[in-house]
Order: sequence, then C-alpha cells, then structure tokens
Amino acid sequence: MSRLIIISNRLPYSLEKEGDKVGLRQSSGGLVSAIKSYIEQGQEGCEFSEKIWAGVADFSPEEWEEIRKNEDTQDFSILPLFTDEQLYSDYYNGFSNSVLWPLFHYFPSLAVYKREYFDAYVKVNRQFADALIPMLQPGDVIWVHDYQLMLLPQMLRLEIPDATIGFFLHIPFPSYELLRLLPSEWKDSLLKGLLGADLVGFHTFDYVQHFIHSVKMLLRIDNNYNTLTYQHRLVKADLFPIGIDFNKFHDATNNHEVLEIRNGIKKNFYEKKIIFSVDRLDYTKGLMYRLQGFEKFLEMFPEWRENVVFILNVVPSRDSIETYNEMKRRIEEKVSTINGIYSNLSWQPVIYRYNHLPFDDLCALYQAADVALITPLRDGMNLVAKEFVASCNAHRGVLVLSELAGAASELSEALHVNPTDVEDVAATINRALTMPVAEQRNRILLMQKRLIDYNVTRWVNDFMDQLKAVKKEQNKIGVKLLDDRITGMLKQRYASAQKRAILLDYDGTLAPFTKLPGDARPESGVITLLKRLAEDEKNEVAIISGRDAATLDQWLGHLPITLVAEHGAQIRKKGADWVSTTSIPDAWKEEIRPLLQVFVTRCAGSFIEEKKNTLAWHYRNTMPEFGFTRSRELINSISQLAQNTPIQVIDGNKVVEIRLTGVDKGITALNLVEASRPDFILCMGDDTTDEDMFKVLEHRGFTIKIGNGNTAAQYNIISQERVLPFLHSVTTQQNKPEYAGA
Ligand code: UDP
Repeated sequence: MSRLIIISNRLPYSLEKEGDKVGLRQSSGGLVSAIKSYIEQGQEGCEFSEKIWAGVADFSPEEWEEIRKNEDTQDFSILPLFTDEQLYSDYYNGFSNSVLWPLFHYFPSLAVYKREYFDAYVKVNRQFADALIPMLQPGDVIWVHDYQLMLLPQMLRLEIPDATIGFFLHIPFPSYELLRLLPSEWKDSLLKGLLGADLVGFHTFDYVQHFIHSVKMLLRIDNNYNTLTYQHRLVKADLFPIGIDFNKFHDATNNHEVLEIRNGIKKNFYEKKIIFSVDRLDYTKGLMYRLQGFEKFLEMFPEWRENVVFILNVVPSRDSIETYNEMKRRIEEKVSTINGIYSNLSWQPVIYRYNHLPFDDLCALYQAADVALITPLRDGMNLVAKEFVASCNAHRGVLVLSELAGAASELSEALHVNPTDVEDVAATINRALTMPVAEQRNRILLMQKRLIDYNVTRWVNDFMDQLKAVKKEQNKIGVKLLDDRITGMLKQRYASAQKRAILLDYDGTLAPFTKLPGDARPESGVITLLKRLAEDEKNEVAIISGRDAATLDQWLGHLPITLVAEHGAQIRKKGADWVSTTSIPDAWKEEIRPLLQVFVTRCAGSFIEEKKNTLAWHYRNTMPEFGFTRSRELINSISQLAQNTPIQVIDGNKVVEIRLTGVDKGITALNLVEASRPDFILCMGDDTTDEDMFKVLEHRGFTIKIGNGNTAAQYNIISQERVLPFLHSVTTQQNKPEYAGA
C-alpha cells in the first residue's frame, strides 16, 4: 500500500495548551475534511498505509518534542517545518503575498518586485524539498498545494524522477500578459516548477488555458489539448473546481443552536430584508466597490431605506502587510459615511463587523440572509458563495455573485454582476430583493444539485483518479520507449545480420531543430558515426530527408552513403550522381508562391523555403498559437487550389510543405530496401512525413520515432539528443562513445 503525502504552506494543526500539557488541534478547513472523507471512503485505490501532512508549523521545535510525547492518534502523521522568521516573512508576506497574490489576481500595480523575496521563496521551497526527499518512498502519492509552493514539484522531480506528484493551485492562474510582467528567471522557474508535477489542477477552464498558453509562450513547449511534454514526461493540466462539504452546511439548517442564532438575527431585524457578505480583508474582494454599490442602491431605490440592512462581516487577514491596513481604514471610513448619510435613530443601513465568525454564527447568517452579496474583483473560486447556496433553507435566498469569481462558471443561476459597475450592482440588489419566491427556489435548487454532485469529496476523488490516469498514460507510452532491453536486442540483431539497411531522417533525428534551416549543420559526431557505419560493407546507409539536394550535398556529400532529397524527388545513390524521380514541370510553383508570400506578410517570423520540387512555409519562429492558426488557414487555402493538380500539402513539424504527389518517403524507403534486400532494417525519423516509412516497413524492420505521440513506428525514443548515443550503442561492440559531447 502506498502513502499519501499532502504538502501545504501551513500545517492544518495549531497548538493547544491545557495546563502544562501541549497538544494539537486539527483545523476544520475544507481541504482537511475533504481529504479525510476521501480516505474514509476506503475506495479501491485510495487505501493508504499512512497519511502524512507536511507544512510550516506554528509551534517551536521544543514544543514539537513535547507534542510528540503526548500525542497518540492523529488523522495524519505530521512533518513540521521550522523556518527562520525573517526568511518566512520574505517568502510568505513577500514573494507569495506581495508578488504572486496581487499579480495572479490582476493587481499588478500592487506587486513588489524584490529580489530578496524571490530568493526567500526559492529557499523555503528548497527547505520543503530537503525535508521531504529523505523520507519519500517508492509508491508515495504526493499532492502539493497552492501558490506558495510552485517550485516544489520540480525540486522533488529532479531527485525522484518517477515520483507521483500532483499540484493544485487554489488561486487564479492569470493571463500570460500578467505573468510576463515577472522577471524571466522568476516566471520560467514558476512554470518549470509546476511542470515537475504529473498533474496540475486549476479551478476553471480559463486558468488551465492561461497556464498552457504561458508554457507555450515562455518555454516554447507545445501542447496536445491539455497535455504537455516536459523533459520527456507527459504532464497534464486540468480543471477541478473545488467543492464544499455540502452536507455540513445544509445539515446546519436543522441544527438547534444555529437555528436559535438565526432566529435571534431575524428578530433583531424584524420585517427588514437582510443582505449579507463575509470576506477576508483583501483588496481582491472588492469591498469598496461593494459598499459603493450598496450606497448607490439606497440612492436609486429610496423605498428600501429602513427596510433593509447590509451585514458586512470582514475577517482579519494579513494585517502585517501595509496595503491591508490601509484598505481596512478606507472601508471603515466608507461604512461611516454611508451610515452617517442614511441612518436615523431607529435604523442603520450597514452593520459592520471586523472579526472571525464561529461556524454556528456563519451558518446562522447564511440562513438569515435574504441576499448574499458576493462581489470580489477576482477570486480563484469563492467558497462563501457555495456555502451560502448550500445553506438556503426552504430553497429561499438569492445569490448576487461577481462574474469575476471562479465560482461564477459553476453557479450560473446566481445573479451575475460586474463588481465595478456600481449602478448595475445597485439594480441587481433591487432585483434580488424583489425576486419571486418560485424563481428563487428554481435557481437555488439547480445550484444545490450541482454542489451536491461535485462536492469536496468528489473533488479529491476526481483529482486522485486523474493523477492515476496520467501515471497510467505515462506507463503506456513507456512500453514503447526504447529501454536497455530493446536496445540490447537490437544490438544482437545488428551484430548477427549479413546485410543491413539504415534509413535515417535528418532534421529532428540526426540534428536538432534550429531557428533557421541553414543553421542545422551536422555535428562532427554525426559525420564520424555515418562514416563508420558506411565503412562497414554490410551496411547500406541512406539519409532520407525533406532537404534539398544542394544542402545534403554540401553537408553530407563527401560520405559514401545514399542521399534522398525532398522526400524522394531526388536521389543520389552511393557512388552515383543525383537523379530526379519525377519529370513534372514546376509551373505549379508560380501559382502557389504568391499565396505563401501573402502568409509571410500576414504572419511575422514565418518564411518560405524553396527547393527544386517543394515549397515550404516555415512557422517555427512565429508566436506559437498565431503561427499554428495561420498554418491551418494556409492548408485550407492550398488544399482547395490543389484539387485536380499534381501537388499535395504536407502538415509537418512547424512547416507546411507543398510538393508533387506520388513522391513520399515511404515509396522511397520501399524502393531502397527492395533493391538491396537486407536482413536487418533500422529506420528512424521524427516527423509526419516519416510515418510513411514506418508504415511501409512494418513487419520488415525496426522503426523508431523520435519523440512521443501517435506513431506507426514500433518504438519511440524520447528525444533527439538520445539518437546518437543510441545508434552508437547498437552499432558498436566497444562501450567508448564516439559522438560529440558524450
Ligand atoms: N470563513 C471562516 N471564518 C470566518 C468566515 C469565513 O473560516 O470567520 C470561511 C468560509 O466559511 C469559507 C472560507 O473562510 O470557507 C473563505 O473561502 P473563500 O474561498 O470564500 O475565500 P478566501 O478567504 O479563500 O479568499
């Protein structure tokens, strides 16, 4: 059985002292109860031999020694971290809450870009890694939580390459335009940090898209829908909108103590409608705009004066950061202004409270409220909105919700507002207060159904299931991956063969991709290898490329090997001259070239490569998604032009090639092997055009695709830089590498 290791910034335990005895009190936070109920379900695959929670402790190492003596049973074993106070402040108040928090919530002007904050962030993430690595075991399932620990997945991955690591971000992931404001080193490390996980979870589809787009733009890594390949490993990004413990809130509608408090509130505000909101003190919560909206409501709808109260509960938070103190002052001023203008001796419109609410009080307020006014300027999810909906007894109550809260996409039956549009907020409050009971009921029921379906336990299940699925998928790919056993088998077959054909693609196989095609000259290691292979009289070596003849001649012409240019349109057999395999005049190029030129103009960074029988439009150096979109348009336009002509369009790796039909690498490879009748064939390539070779050589020889992804090849080799060491290993008996850089 495996172990579950949860890692969050703080431990969900706080110190409890009873006389001389010190112990721990487990917090009742959503995450703890969700994970506990997931474990308690004991579903197949979720039995863990041990559950461990790692996080920064709010007690000292000495107190921990005491606690360990006294503590017997806990739901989780605890791995506490103890950090230096200043370091922790720079990491938590500094980088986490003065850089990432404002930026990820679209408040870039509040971000404080200090080098020492980032350094502290790296250090504390490193401390987590150092504490965890020695205790991790094979089979452990590691789940890292939130924006304070974005570097940790990669730190763990580097030490334990096959670890199972999930990451969940509880705040928004911002648009690339926001992320790019960070210095390069910071933003690259954050993205690479997350890519150390196998599964990266977000609350909404938008956040997933923003993450994938940022990875593409900054790290130039392509995605296949929501999967990415990073350092030869498949990583999935997906949405898991966190739910709540529905029953906990819903059942409170029958809880005697809660009902008593609720009735007290109702009595206190007899015959008045109650608008309620509760938020941590935070600029993201839009409290000032909310108060302006309420003020506007009193101004626009005077009939509601004396008939409504707004209970605004603000929960203290992050008061060691100056911005928060300043905001508190302004909120309190605004409350005084509104009350100063509108209250009379028997009525006060805003009841303002600045404190924590015990659970029973919170539930009672949710139940007493006619309208919940929840209007953050940005919120990763917003649990208060969901808790209010779950608490609506007799299905009465109206939720007014900001369209900028993550919860808005799930709670579509709420009345959505833009929090900055104070007139709209005012009008929506009026609409909520006058909503017919039947409509309230319909809306609440639909939302409650959704909250029951995807409650917090479901959220944990879903995440864990997906994490397992990603591992499975990685293993499936792994089955086709060349390993030592297959390499050993190929080596034996190579050694015992009498006549061999070695068919190799060039770009992406023997040489890495470069910004400009002309820069991908062969390294000396490639030349040495090809020379040695060609010297063995049992070998027929052919480079089967999409390159033109002149380039192949210039780079490889001096070698006694066969060269195939433009996918087979031209061929130079070993010791012979170049011959064309097609005699169709190239008048078609005149028609296509102007169209390609239009696309070059419309897509900065793209260019045309002209070969004897091929025209190619390259978009490797364009903005990734833009280039891809233009390439779809180009393929579409040319496919229409190409009807009833002798040309075909090939969708290559960051290139669209237009060339004559009847010429492809498959036909060429087949011709070559039929002519020489080898008893060992090794064929390697990376691109769509190489698939033609893999298909015709199926059952005849060994075919290997460079990179993963769907292929007709028998095996995959994970990346181009592994090709030369592999060829060396298969084709030599000695172990000393001959390739450059080895
Ligand atoms: N909450 C609390 N104490 C309070 C008031 C609220 O613990 O005095 C809880 C509330 O029930 C909710 C959470 O705090 O579960 C707030 O979560 P939300 O997503 O709404 O906002 P966040 O504070 O995470 O930005």
